[in-house]
Amino acid sequence: VTHVADGAVTDAFRSEVADWFAAHNPVGWRDAVRAMSTEEWLDFNRTWLRTLNTRGYGAPHVPREWGGGGYSLHQQVTILSEWARVDAPGTDLFEISLFHVPGTLLAAGTDEQRQRYVRQGIDGVIWCQGFSEPGAGSDLASLRTRAVADGDGWRVHGQKIWSSHADHARYCLLLARTNPDASRHHGITYFICDLDQPGVEVRPITQTTGLQGFCEIFFDGAHVGPDGVIGGVDDGWAVAQSTLETERGVLGLDVVERMGHHLHRTVQALASRDEEHRSGELTADEAALARLLARHHAVRALCGHAVDRLEQGDHSGGLASLMKVSFSELLQELADWETTRRGEAALVQRPPMHFCGYVTDEPALDWLHSWGWTIAGGANEIQRNIIGERLLGLPRQPRPR
Ligand SMILES: Cc1cc2nc3c(=O)[nH]c(=O)nc-3n(C[C@H](O)[C@H](O)[C@H](O)COP(=O)(O)OP(=O)(O)OC[C@H]3O[C@@H](n4cnc5c(N)ncnc54)[C@H](O)[C@@H]3O)c2cc1C
Repeated sequence: VTHVADGAVTDAFRSEVADWFAAHNPVGWRDAVRAMSTEEWLDFNRTWLRTLNTRGYGAPHVPREWGGGGYSLHQQVTILSEWARVDAPGTDLFEISLFHVPGTLLAAGTDEQRQRYVRQGIDGVIWCQGFSEPGAGSDLASLRTRAVADGDGWRVHGQKIWSSHADHARYCLLLARTNPDASRHHGITYFICDLDQPGVEVRPITQTTGLQGFCEIFFDGAHVGPDGVIGGVDDGWAVAQSTLETERGVLGLDVVERMGHHLHRTVQALASRDEEHRSGELTADEAALARLLARHHAVRALCGHAVDRLEQGDHSGGLASLMKVSFSELLQELADWETTRRGEAALVQRPPMHFCGYVTDEPALDWLHSWGWTIAGGANEIQRNIIGERLLGLPRQPRPR
């Protein structure tokens, strides 16, 4: 891995990254993926991740000693931008392994947990996240899955839902209640649970898109050893905050870059199509596109500002929420515009076989997917509460006891 020691984004760095993606992008992959069986798709994803890892691009944010690229935040944005420019495949299948696992274990794990799991996850072992439950989403602290002490370990009973890619995952980052007598935010423990054992049943959920990206996980006495606790027993709530912060902000920078390149490609397509018929007036399509471009500039600038502040060590709560609300709502608007302008043609689509990202140029599919980002990692209404309270200093909304 070539590396710029001070983390600066030089012209040389940018063109090196651009050249690499241009040379390694598996051109035509979207069509190829359509024809793949699930096994072939899993293999395709693993191979792509291994290729990315030869340059540290699979986990550019993770220090090199743990198998990542060790790039600065500004360099990560450059990598994501050049990645999006050639529309190369994403790494969604490994999202928890690449982001949440290192984010959580490097902050709160033991040395043994870091050694055992971080590099393995970056190499392609799939993890999922078992936070949400049927009665605990936005109000996560009301979760009811229990872990009961059993010898020197634990037995887990309960149900999780919306767990992305749990059907392919080996391990789960799991929140469970260990002290029912403690107040809601206390008495929760953060576990590493091996899903490959009796007492675990994973059931995929079919979404409106026809894909099965989420699962329910049923635990009926699954075992977690004493080395599976992250942070302290009953202290999982604080640890979970570092996972959630990862999920809200930096993950979306990829979508911001993909939207930008998609908008520019659309501008070029419209410009060449309309050249002969130009009257001097903006068409309704062009005016809408101009508004989207202006908004994209604003969202990208906002994210750039947040990245600057994060790079300077400012981790004030709320920055990630601001990024998430702004890019996810722009994504929804962009997908809505694309679907509307293509009319009935947008509805005629080949059924997807596997998830291929959020900006795929399949308008109806992108539109359906776009709602996911306004909900995942905490719905936007909740993000607005966080922005109000932590960034703007507004009074806290009443909390359930
Ligand atoms: C693409 C995607 C991937 C996901 N992946 C995972 C995963 O891997 N693991 C996992 O554990 N979970 C996952 N989730 C679940 C996600 O975390 C929850 O859907 C989310 O936290 C919202 O919870 P809920 O669906 O129960 O909605 P609810 O909490 O029931 O909310 C319903 C509505 O009420 C609003 N609302 C609730 N409380 C308030 C309030 N206090 N103030 C204002 N409005 C409020 C919400 O904003 C929302 O509009 C995923 C979700 C999506 C969409």
